[in-house]
Amino acid sequence: MSRYFYDLHLHSCLSPCADDDMTPANIAGMASLKGLQLLALTDHNSCGNCETFLQTCRAYGIVGLPGMELTTAEEIHMVCLFPSLETALKFDKTISENRLLTANRPEIFGNQLYVDAEDNVTGEEPHLLHTACRFSLSEAYGLVLSMGGAAYPAHIDREANGIINVLGTFPPEPDFKAVEFNDSANVDSYTADYGLADRLVLCSSDAHHLWDIQEAGPSLELDDEPYSSDRVRQALIDLINKGLK
Ligand SMILES: [Zn+2]
Ligand SMILES: [Zn+2]
Repeated sequence: MSRYFYDLHLHSCLSPCADDDMTPANIAGMASLKGLQLLALTDHNSCGNCETFLQTCRAYGIVGLPGMELTTAEEIHMVCLFPSLETALKFDKTISENRLLTANRPEIFGNQLYVDAEDNVTGEEPHLLHTACRFSLSEAYGLVLSMGGAAYPAHIDREANGIINVLGTFPPEPDFKAVEFNDSANVDSYTADYGLADRLVLCSSDAHHLWDIQEAGPSLELDDEPYSSDRVRQALIDLINKGLK
């Protein structure tokens, strides 16, 4: 077992609302300076910069996970993490086929940039990325699990697109085994108020700017022996799917 300082909710320059200098290389470099060892890239409804992200994490000795922050049909944000790029891209394809495609207007919503590991812009995503997909929360959760990934509701302590604010409570179904908080100061009161005691609590930054990537604070113990980065990724997925029970 080893302890990993993590940040599992990060937006690259592909998310319209993130800074253009949130390139995968800059994210991995900043996270390395902050002493983080486990990162996930979770752009809105896309895994399009994940391949570059995994490359740049490797270059800094960080374990990277491909992920996505999905907007469900209810407009709830759910973090989806995958054990491999192949699974992430398969999920990405399914989402892109089940989402309303409207043109992005960069001057209003921001740029949606694909970049390589040297920060060169290799393309622009033409369709606005943060619109809702056709899948309900339950359908989307089931889909992620069926593909070997893990998922949990994002920033449950925030009003915008947080599960509790959208639904008025924390629903018994789907049976999420993990939840994400944006502010760790809210964990105790929410856990008591919404009966979340058996859930794994994750605190991540939801960084849209380089300076928002979190400091080495929240951490997870993961079984990584014999060590391989694949094993770390799978251990994290398994832990999120199991919760604390
Ligand atoms: Zn969000
Ligand atoms: Zn986010």
